[in-house]
Amino acid sequence: MPGAQVVGRFAPSPTGPLHFGSLVAAVGSYCLARRAGGRWLLRMEDLDLPRVVPGAADEILVSLEKLGLLWDGEIVWQSQRTSAYEAAVEQLRDKNLVFDCACTRKEIVLSAPHPGEEGPIYPGTCRSGLRHGRKPRALRIAVPDEQVCFHDGVYGPRQQVLTETVGDFVLRRADGLFAYQLAVVVDDAASGVNQVVRGADLLSSSPRQIFLHACLGNPVPEYVHLPLVVDNTGQKMSKRLGAVHADHERDAAWLVARALDFLGQKVPSWLRGAAPSELLSWAVQAFDQRAIPAAAEGLIFSNVPCNCEKNIE
Ligand SMILES: [Zn+2]
Repeated sequence: MPGAQVVGRFAPSPTGPLHFGSLVAAVGSYCLARRAGGRWLLRMEDLDLPRVVPGAADEILVSLEKLGLLWDGEIVWQSQRTSAYEAAVEQLRDKNLVFDCACTRKEIVLSAPHPGEEGPIYPGTCRSGLRHGRKPRALRIAVPDEQVCFHDGVYGPRQQVLTETVGDFVLRRADGLFAYQLAVVVDDAASGVNQVVRGADLLSSSPRQIFLHACLGNPVPEYVHLPLVVDNTGQKMSKRLGAVHADHERDAAWLVARALDFLGQKVPSWLRGAAPSELLSWAVQAFDQRAIPAAAEGLIFSNVPCNCEKNIE
């Protein structure tokens, strides 16, 4: 999109305090958006209310401010966006892309002989209507048997066939909550986000989101997935284990420097002892996307490189 202003974002879930893994996503998305002279938005992914921890959102906001990661505009709260998600579902319904599903999780597990990396693959049981006497539970979107291809800024060309990886996926869950995949797509499009920078655990969600963007007639954003922070046992950094404490400026600066280091950026020695805002000013100028390591840890994605024509340059 030549000429368009870059709009990036950071979208934490307030299910606990900011942890080092989410800090890396915040620093990476901030630097890439700002380096391009773009805007950097903040969205609270508080959609899954049963998992939201009271006070966690405020705690994250305070931490971001102390780290010098200042966002543009109003914060978007997913819990207040229900009508936008409903409108998107109606748009998809008008295109005959969605269907009611009566299956329980147990039924899907039993009918999916080869569970995918993302869990059991939906076998399409309710695609052509509910069986007699069954009540609708979730709402799903019918996916085509085609390859979704994209070029990730760190992980390179990627491909996924949705029917083989996830099957028709859920847009509204049996508990009535809208699914993460739908909310992300609707919110990114509504905010004009055209640069999605986030942890590589979401690499495998991107094809679903690209498919949804296409169904809703949205432009597809640029994707840059960052290597996952794992602990020394190889587990993804959790909120419980890796909470960051940025109360003192020295700690905040240390954390920003660690995040930049993790992203392959060589912080010069003359910045030792600098405030977080100074570190970030340097990083916005000097950030080198090619230096981000494409570490394989924690990845749940097909390793087959994409060879479709779109990606051959
Ligand atoms: Zn079903």
